Amino acid sequence: MAPLDTRGRPLRNLRISVTDRCNLRCAYCMPEEEYVWLPREEILHFEEISRLVDVFIDLGVDKVRLTGGEPLLRRDLPALIRQLAAKPGLRDLAITSNGVLLAAEAPALRAAGLHRVTVSLDTLRPERFTALTRRPAHAQVLEGIAAVPRAGFTGTKLDTVVMRGVNDDELVDLIEYARRVPAEVRFIEYMDVGGATRWSLDQVVSRAEMLERLARHYGAIEPVVEESTAPADRFRLRDGTVFGIISSTTAPFCAECDRSRLTADGLWYLCLYAMRGIDLRGPLRGGASDAQLKALITGGWTARTERGAEDRLALGQRTPLLQVGGLRRDPHLEMHTRGG
Ligand code: SAM
Repeated sequence: MAPLDTRGRPLRNLRISVTDRCNLRCAYCMPEEEYVWLPREEILHFEEISRLVDVFIDLGVDKVRLTGGEPLLRRDLPALIRQLAAKPGLRDLAITSNGVLLAAEAPALRAAGLHRVTVSLDTLRPERFTALTRRPAHAQVLEGIAAVPRAGFTGTKLDTVVMRGVNDDELVDLIEYARRVPAEVRFIEYMDVGGATRWSLDQVVSRAEMLERLARHYGAIEPVVEESTAPADRFRLRDGTVFGIISSTTAPFCAECDRSRLTADGLWYLCLYAMRGIDLRGPLRGGASDAQLKALITGGWTARTERGAEDRLALGQRTPLLQVGGLRRDPHLEMHTRGG
């Protein structure tokens, strides 16, 4: 039986961070010079991830997204994808990547059975990309994006974190670019989460403001009416182009949130804002049976009360959730460890 949490939300959507390492240093995620990395021996092996996924599937999970860090930095990722894609219970198997290594990897990901790809792309301007990510890899990312449809993928998404004064003048350009890929762009409100230690409310461009600006350019924009627990609200332009907005900061979707996150070292987090996770690696390596793992996961989920983004919104006066000291003491609080 699929467990429900204390707010009646099912366990359905699992995001698995396969590595905490990243080859970019985005200002809103990894702004520091140095990081504390997870010890290598604690990183889950593919067989361990696969076993946990079997248990999660038995409890109702039917969507898995591989993320990180940068998931393509994990050696031989297609081997994991092959194992996961063979599970009949998985309706959706996707990856979120920064695109840097995608041009080379897309065919192997497709051959391994991956269903869909989301690429993070915050700007179409190379100098801006380098300033934002501290790596001169813009051309590689664009080549990576071009390789996705070429490898046969459909349903591709481009995720853009919109920051005032940084890239908020590119909304139209990104919609036009995504249309050509082809992909659906999703604008993400800048969140005060994890490593976003330089976050401030005045840098957030709200969903309302994005829609207003886009309507000024495109004319009437209508919401796409659909039954979905996806984080993005989708909208349609007059010419039929669809785009999404993920408004976790100003209009959170906690009431429908069916996501949980597994870190590369096997801690299970029930909310992006949660301060503590449930250790699954310990029991897994300690010889727990499937029934014991199932009981642990069911117990965690049925006790789930979290609605982190709504709690943050209710604060009114907002500063970054975490400071560098706290992140160093527990790197699991980092977005790049927990998996965005
Ligand atoms: N490396 C991969 C990538 O770049 O897509 C996957 C991991 S990354 C942490 C996942 C997503 O989290 C990215 O789309 C990134 O833009 C988003 N993200 C990170 N920090 C964020 C923040 N402070 N606010 C909003 N989105 C954020």
